Amino acid sequence: MANVELATTLAEIKGAKMVPSFCYMCPWNCPSEVYVKDGKIVHVKGLEGAPNSGRRCAKGEASFQVVDDPDRLKYPMKRVSPKGKEPKFERISWDEAYAIIANKLIDVKDKYGPEAVVSLYHHDPNSVFTQILLTQLYGSPNFYGHTAGCEQSRRQACLTVFGHVFPMLDFEDSRFIMLWGINLFEAIEAIWENLALFEALDKGAKLVVVDPKFTHTAEKADEWIAIKPGTDGAMALAMCHTMIEENLYDRAFVREWTSGFDEFAKHLRDKGYTPEWASKVTDVPADTIRRLAREFATTKPAIAEVFKGPGNYTNGADASRAIYMLNVLTGNVDGPGNICLKDWAPVGPPVIIPEEAMAKPKKPPLHVAMGYPLAPDLPTGLLPKAVIKGDPYPVKVLFLQSINLVMSDPNTGLVKQMFRELDLAVTIDLYMSETALESDLVLPDASFYERAEVRQGLYKAPQAIICQPVIPPVGESQPMYEIVKGIAGKMGHGEYFTYRDWEDWANVAVQKLPISLEELKTKGIWTGENRHHKFKEGGFPTPSGKIEIWSKNFENSGYNPLPEYREHSVLPDEEYPLQLITSKLSMHCNVLTQNNPYLIEIIDENWVELNPLDARKYGIRDGDMVVLESPHGKAVIRAKVIEGVKPGVACARHDHGFGHWSPFLSVAYGKGAHLNHLIDSQIDPVSGGNAYNERKVRIRRA
Ligand code: SF4
Repeated sequence: MANVELATTLAEIKGAKMVPSFCYMCPWNCPSEVYVKDGKIVHVKGLEGAPNSGRRCAKGEASFQVVDDPDRLKYPMKRVSPKGKEPKFERISWDEAYAIIANKLIDVKDKYGPEAVVSLYHHDPNSVFTQILLTQLYGSPNFYGHTAGCEQSRRQACLTVFGHVFPMLDFEDSRFIMLWGINLFEAIEAIWENLALFEALDKGAKLVVVDPKFTHTAEKADEWIAIKPGTDGAMALAMCHTMIEENLYDRAFVREWTSGFDEFAKHLRDKGYTPEWASKVTDVPADTIRRLAREFATTKPAIAEVFKGPGNYTNGADASRAIYMLNVLTGNVDGPGNICLKDWAPVGPPVIIPEEAMAKPKKPPLHVAMGYPLAPDLPTGLLPKAVIKGDPYPVKVLFLQSINLVMSDPNTGLVKQMFRELDLAVTIDLYMSETALESDLVLPDASFYERAEVRQGLYKAPQAIICQPVIPPVGESQPMYEIVKGIAGKMGHGEYFTYRDWEDWANVAVQKLPISLEELKTKGIWTGENRHHKFKEGGFPTPSGKIEIWSKNFENSGYNPLPEYREHSVLPDEEYPLQLITSKLSMHCNVLTQNNPYLIEIIDENWVELNPLDARKYGIRDGDMVVLESPHGKAVIRAKVIEGVKPGVACARHDHGFGHWSPFLSVAYGKGAHLNHLIDSQIDPVSGGNAYNERKVRIRRA
């Protein structure tokens, strides 16, 4: 920043009021300090004393642009052109919007039942209000996030093995860390876990990154294992095989806290999951697999963690289970320096519905009816089928909050077709996204600088964090708690949403916290005690009360109770010789970052990375525009030629974040390439997670 600009900024900050809040440019919600003067945000920074030591990433620093963005939605709109034609919208009042929604909900419930209404969110600001209205009062069991578009397989594996949905990574005391397909130093730079990882590295911990791509995290590692895409499960199972055959596992821990160890040991032997077998599958030498197994088992405390990389395949859930087994066999569970099965803060619902008013759903939730009872979230890859064919039951209304399903889900054409079959699609967002363009009603949401929220902090100890409004909502936009109150009033449920301002419901939400709302507003966060080995007090929240190596849930649902290796379903061949995988970028997360002029100035397009061997083979030079073709479609994108991607692999950076085609996103429009039409709707058969990394492509210069 030039000196003159800096001086101006400092003068503005002087005398500004600091309001503790949190960032919502990505779902990690780093606690923040927002400086406000004369009704204007003049500065934002990380909250001093927060676990990430007051850090924010570039996305967070640029976030104040969202309040001045002229592309923000400013009033409710109704579609006036037929579905499938050029979208045209006209301005309506909030009252009309509420009436349209309420009448349609009542009508659909009469004709099809409440389960025909499905609510989805990605970022979930205050989506709890939607849940209370549509689930508890209206009676639809179908309230979902968008984990299928993210780490559904990892989440499913964690729930299966430990009964916990989202482990934190207590790196600080770790001495051996294996990260499988998780690029912490690029995707989510500002979080406390990254600081803890740096501290561990400073103290001499060994970091091993398993990834077909040399990521920013791999740059900091002692070893990069350039594994063949989609084969992580084979390597992890072979490491387990070595640990057991060489008696390197923690006998006492396994005996006391796990179920199914003997069956697992036999299974590994019977299947022949040796390092030699895995070497042929993964391209990782058998000696390396054996050595890493020995090092992991004998260097405590240790962490093996997995995220989207190995998870975004049709074998992703079992790969993730196999990776978690490394922690299990070595007793590296919930201690200092281990994966941490955190306690949650006692944040309650902001509105309490009396038992007698609660609706009782008659049909099972959609994911269960679809045949995915173990999916932790909706397999959205199957949602178009439910809408278009009424299979497994009719779905007529979609509520979509802060989710751009048309951009983010595979098989773009089918997702668009789905919207044409709906009776009503309501998008609640900050922008006229590609999903809003396909919707019938578009409602302007308030940004995280214009609304309040109390939610769980993603820290290893129980933590509550607060978001506070610092400026009025842009235009006529409204936070979800006001939108839901308006719809509820028209549906005859107004008596439950009687709060006059946000403090009324926030006081209800914090009533079980040991601090008052006023204190939380001043401090920004409340953090409870960080406890270790919590399972010693009452076991694990699994069906057996133990860590489930042998999963009762898998057995009951007709799946192999033990983690196994299956080849994923879409493999390169002669016609399409490259496996196209995907990897995120530090500056971008979603439409909030891509319509941000600061961030788009730094990275204004995505690209595909190729190894020099492949570049030579296909006559491609660094910087060329290339055509990527799959059996499903083609796209033009820039190529970068780098050593840090495995031969035979093409790595698209942020493949479904770029290439926006909504003309109402003046910054993001037309920048980079969108690649989700190159992929079919294949999903993991147990978790229902999207298999984004299963694309076979050929490449040529454009
Ligand atoms: S990692 Fe960055 S974008 Fe995400 S919440 Fe933290 S500061 Fe915001």
